Amino acid sequence: MKPLVAIVGRPNVGKSTFFNRMIGERVAIVEDMPGTTRDRLYGDTDWNGREFTLIDTGGLELGSGIPVGQVGLTGQPGDLMDHVMSQAQLAIEEADVIIFMVDARSGITAADDEVADLLRRSTKPVVVAANKADNAERRLDVVEFYGLGLGEPTDISSIQGTGTGDLLDRIVEALPPASEMEEEEDENIPRIAIVGRPNVGKSSLLNAVLGFKRSIVSNVPGTTRDAIDTEVEFGEQKIKLIDTAGIRRRGRIGVGVEKYSVLRSTRAIERCDVALLLIDASEGLAAQDTHIAGIIHEMGKGVIVIVNKWDIAQEQIRAEREGIYPDPDDEIQSAESYRKALMGALKFIPYAPIIFASAKTGYHIKSILETALKISDMRYLRVPTSRLNEVVQEAVRRHHPAAVTAMKPLRVYYATQTRVNPPTFVFFVNDPRSVHFSYERYLENRLREAFSFYGTGIRIFFRARS
Ligand code: GDP
Ligand code: GDP
Repeated sequence: MKPLVAIVGRPNVGKSTFFNRMIGERVAIVEDMPGTTRDRLYGDTDWNGREFTLIDTGGLELGSGIPVGQVGLTGQPGDLMDHVMSQAQLAIEEADVIIFMVDARSGITAADDEVADLLRRSTKPVVVAANKADNAERRLDVVEFYGLGLGEPTDISSIQGTGTGDLLDRIVEALPPASEMEEEEDENIPRIAIVGRPNVGKSSLLNAVLGFKRSIVSNVPGTTRDAIDTEVEFGEQKIKLIDTAGIRRRGRIGVGVEKYSVLRSTRAIERCDVALLLIDASEGLAAQDTHIAGIIHEMGKGVIVIVNKWDIAQEQIRAEREGIYPDPDDEIQSAESYRKALMGALKFIPYAPIIFASAKTGYHIKSILETALKISDMRYLRVPTSRLNEVVQEAVRRHHPAAVTAMKPLRVYYATQTRVNPPTFVFFVNDPRSVHFSYERYLENRLREAFSFYGTGIRIFFRARS
């Protein structure tokens, strides 16, 4: 688990310039949150052997939700300070270290003061970066930023790249000790994350699970301080629940909460084996739900789609059939049509089981846990190479790869499983460029059928064998 370092500051001080310099061409987690103005918000980097994730909070659309400098549908312009303060609040709640970036050319502004007030009241370590200190004279002026009351400012020039080494030294010093960030690698305890939009019932589900089996082993504060992990025993099996519910109670950032919850969900998903994606049956699928499903899929995690508050949906159906005593078949029918609609909208995770549940009444809570454990087991399955290649040869014989455009026809030589959790397969072929997307999907489906991979992403790679 990498610590999180957030860059905050008012617009135009150079946050994204600095971020891009740090992340550069490295492979970053591309976070395409809807409504963001930048294509990359966070990426991994390292300094002196310490790895961390850097977030450019300037790209997060928070506060009023209206981009700064633009006018919203209501005719209200986006409030700049609202926006900047929300980003700072986010950083205080989420990050391990905060880089407070200011502009060395403009000196301390009223906006800087306001942000500094908020940061001073928090307990998170803050490193002040006075950017645009492009020459010796400017570097001398930087002492002014002592006045923010946040310690010694570090002068940097993101454009020239000067001073960034000193800044990184200070960031790394402020990080929590590496040992504190380590996840106890207990491979035998499946990690299950409860994710979804605010109000879908995440904390209720957690409580239902805890109430169902009153055998809480311990309440371990999450190593990242944003999620609370709870270890429970389910039958003979220990489970670690990663809860993201805290957000609603702690959130003070109004409209931004939804977007913020995606960030929190992302970090919980990163740490889990199986994600329980909660959807509110009384509201239906929202864009945000699909977005979180996409993140789970991208990360190759196990997933169960949980249609929570099914009791409300049932009530609605009953109310519509006023006067008629509810037919027991009604529930089955409505569930089936709901399932079809969901499967259509979540086509990219056809492997995800869908469970209709109610955290309130306890309906299907047990089967959620049973299913999650089954999926977690599946993710550790090791397929014998000989059996794998029988399946692959048979698949190739039944459906021969067609030649793609002018390329050489694809030849599949053999396959091997290289990893578990998620199950990962490498296919050795004559030319990986000849693998058509649809053929890859065909092979994936064949593996799923043959080995009953269920509820989990699997990964497939193609390599050239000369
Ligand atoms: P953000 O809104 O805080 O993310 O700011 P940007 O990274 O978009 O930068 C705002 C402007 O400041 C851009 O025109 C940058 O080229 C410029 N800028 C960023 N860093 C430096 C720097 O170190 N020196 C100078 N002179 N300009 C910079
Ligand atoms: P969270 O923000 O995702 O943690 O959502 P909560 O667990 O706080 O639930 C939000 C609201 O939905 C609360 O008022 C819950 O009582 C209610 N709720 C949660 N699950 C159910 C359910 O299965 N049925 C009904 N009727 N209400 C639910």
